[in-house]
Amino acid sequence: MSATVVDFPAGVVSGSGTVERVEPLGEAVGVITDRTPFHPVDPSWPDQPADTGTLNGVPVLDCLVGATDADGVLSVGDAITPRRGDPDHTWVVVHVVAAADAPEVGQPVDLQVDAERRAALSRAHTACHVSALALNAVVKDLWRKDVARDGIGNPDFDKIALTESRMVPDQARDTYRLGKSLRKKGFDTASFRESLDAVATQVDAQIQAWIDADASVEIQTEGPHLTDMRYWCCHVPEGEYRIACGGTHVTALRELGAVTVRYEAPDDATVVAVTSVG
Ligand SMILES: [Zn+2]
Repeated sequence: MSATVVDFPAGVVSGSGTVERVEPLGEAVGVITDRTPFHPVDPSWPDQPADTGTLNGVPVLDCLVGATDADGVLSVGDAITPRRGDPDHTWVVVHVVAAADAPEVGQPVDLQVDAERRAALSRAHTACHVSALALNAVVKDLWRKDVARDGIGNPDFDKIALTESRMVPDQARDTYRLGKSLRKKGFDTASFRESLDAVATQVDAQIQAWIDADASVEIQTEGPHLTDMRYWCCHVPEGEYRIACGGTHVTALRELGAVTVRYEAPDDATVVAVTSVG
């Protein structure tokens, strides 16, 4: 079995592949093909959910990452223990279908992603990154110490404080931890918490400025396979952002139309950024 060639980074939503393996997964089966347009959920950073769609016309119920060891033993999703991309394993996309719908090994299959849902997830993912970078820019003066910086030179609040990111069609929720370690790094968490509504207004304005500038977005890839490194690059007037990212995206911010952000503070040490498209 070979590492799966993935076409989703280029925005592809349909294609064909040859079945290389069919593996029982509970009451369903996992179907592994040599290549696929399907985006699987990443078990180590499950920000963008799995694509849905069809495989030879039958529903793809879920789409997961799989890894096989040197003996050919396959582990799937949360059961994977090696770190992402470990070279001693073969990394594959696992399409989950009902057992009764299982294709034969060696059979060519038609793969169709639900394109409308994919587009809404791509918008959510791009908006998520843009919202985070706008937040970096808006809170840049709340740092008292020198810390890692983002692509255009602002202190990288997002990278330092982000603990979880979750997307649904046209919306993303980013969870930031405002704990002791962030204060030790020199961030004024108290001022931030007191000004969340004003921050949201400024973040919205920054995002709108980048949309008005029609900043372009591209995915740079280091190879065609699932675990090859990929980067989200956004060309804003101030410079270029480049973030390691395994998801799918729009090609220009104009495709987002409008983006609004609000911040929730469920407890003293947590702020959740809710970014909505449209
Ligand atoms: Zn991403």
